[in-house]
Amino acid sequence: MKFQAPANLNIVPFVSVDHMMKLVLTVGVETFIRELAGVIEEDFRRWEVFDKRPRIGCHSDEGVIELMPTSDGRLYGFKYVNGHPKNMREGRQTVTAFGVLADVGNGYPALLSEMTILTALRTAATSALAGKYLARPDARCMAIIGNGAQSEFQALAFKAICGVNRLRLYDIDPAASRKCRANLQGQGFDIIIAASAEEAVEGADIITTVTADKNLATVLTDNMVGPGVHINAVGGDCPGKTELHRDILTRSEVFVEYPPQTRIEGEIQQMPEDFPVQELWQVISGQRPGRSSERAITLFDSVGFAIEDFSALRYVRDKLEQTGLFCELDLLADPDEPRDLYGMLLRCKAAQVL
Ligand code: NAD
Repeated sequence: MKFQAPANLNIVPFVSVDHMMKLVLTVGVETFIRELAGVIEEDFRRWEVFDKRPRIGCHSDEGVIELMPTSDGRLYGFKYVNGHPKNMREGRQTVTAFGVLADVGNGYPALLSEMTILTALRTAATSALAGKYLARPDARCMAIIGNGAQSEFQALAFKAICGVNRLRLYDIDPAASRKCRANLQGQGFDIIIAASAEEAVEGADIITTVTADKNLATVLTDNMVGPGVHINAVGGDCPGKTELHRDILTRSEVFVEYPPQTRIEGEIQQMPEDFPVQELWQVISGQRPGRSSERAITLFDSVGFAIEDFSALRYVRDKLEQTGLFCELDLLADPDEPRDLYGMLLRCKAAQVL
């Protein structure tokens, strides 16, 4: 089935989990991540046109459910996403998501998509994009602390975009590290499983922390981070949930997506309100230099921002015509005579009687 600009506006293209998996495999995981990073980069360069606000969270003791809206004035997008670290122990995903893209001109949805897989891809693409601008250009070895659902995507993104080819894995659950190594077998990595986080970071040029714990945890302490390292801190993305000791923050050049959101959710929630940070979009658009020296410690305090999801939905929508990987969803009640919504119900009743 080929995607066409819908003449029938009440039909909405829907990308299911099955479609998404086929789309990613058709395009190729690394190509998908590289192309998606290109779209994110393009949108970060026009950052100022977007409507921006911190995401809207509904917090409980177990986790959080969030809405992440944004618009560039022509398209509107939002993602529904949860974060429940306990889910994994119950056989569920920590993070699940779906999203919508809509036409600002008439308000009608233009796409509904699964975003659990897409979030892992866009998070990895954004991390590696930040790595491209902030890590040392000769960085090839990455430690990944936390080897759950996001970890392979992070590894493949840093390979595709930054040229990482050596991995040092650590997880408190050794089965997670074995799963990660097995999934990445034969994909051009030299992989070591470490016995501790301290061992994992030895000799690493880039340190990715992507653990899930609803806690002010200390996955990395100051003594574990040497000069010239780039830290990609992904797991601390919610109030009361961090991964780094605050002393690391005071020694680092800290880069964030959208400061009003990161000050609530990121590693910098541990720091005073006026703690200095730089915005990644300004580095990408050439307004800021990024890393100041070979020996500087750079930190991308990632929390995930709505524009990245908007870019991901835009990328997926643009693939529909080429791949046909979607189905048509009867989502909107839209009678021929717009004011005759009730009449539509009556006509349905009459048709059923017949
Ligand atoms: P997951 O539950 O699948 O995996 C997390 C892993 O971390 C598990 O294997 C667990 O054993 C391990 N872990 C927990 N505490 C640890 C510790 N102290 N040291 C080492 N390993 C530890 O979760 P996931 O889907 O991979 O997500 C990981 C984190 O990333 C979550 O906190 C999630 O909210 C966050 N996340 C952030 C973004 C973003 O844009 N920044 C996007 C997606 C997910």
